[in-house]
Amino acid sequence: MTGNTGLITERCNAFGAERGGEQLLGGVYSDKYVGKYHWYCKEPAIGRYTMVCTGGDYGFRVQADGGLIKAYHCDGGHKGTPQPLCKIHVQHFTVGPPKAGYTRDLKTPVGQIGGTVANELCPACAYPPEARSLQERADYLQQQMSRIMVSPFLNNQAEFKRLEQAQDTVRARLDELNQTGRVHKCPLILREVS
Ligand SMILES: [Zn+2]
Ligand SMILES: [Zn+2]
Ligand SMILES: [Zn+2]
Repeated sequence: MTGNTGLITERCNAFGAERGGEQLLGGVYSDKYVGKYHWYCKEPAIGRYTMVCTGGDYGFRVQADGGLIKAYHCDGGHKGTPQPLCKIHVQHFTVGPPKAGYTRDLKTPVGQIGGTVANELCPACAYPPEARSLQERADYLQQQMSRIMVSPFLNNQAEFKRLEQAQDTVRARLDELNQTGRVHKCPLILREVS
């Protein structure tokens, strides 16, 4: 084999696509979410694809007349890093996860949010910056409270109460973000990029 045909045969990078691309995730998923096993697809890529957030309407808020209306409209458009994909994986990501339900023996739930296929939800929508910093704050407060609980030397009721109240405030705000649809689960669709 000599010469350059000008065609670059890329390997499928379904693994990268599953992660949604570092840019889209914005560091939300550290390696602990990726799982222990790095797997690779040996098929040649048929093109480059990216996951695009579809947008949608989420949450409810009470109107002046007491009626409920959709609270949050998401324009979508969040994009992952383009990845070369093979035919099989293009199909896999296009079809997406099975509809929520159960396997034939009715024992295992399938196709639900939180499954293993990345195109179920847009991470940028599910973890907006405010929710992320609130979650970090909640984790920190929880840690402080645990420390007081396990140590006889730190048996400080007043401090515990203060932490507990701070935690309630953080959780209330997180609940609000969920209820108003600011935190929501937008589906992702696969688009070919040139
Ligand atoms: Zn969204
Ligand atoms: Zn593949
Ligand atoms: Zn999104």
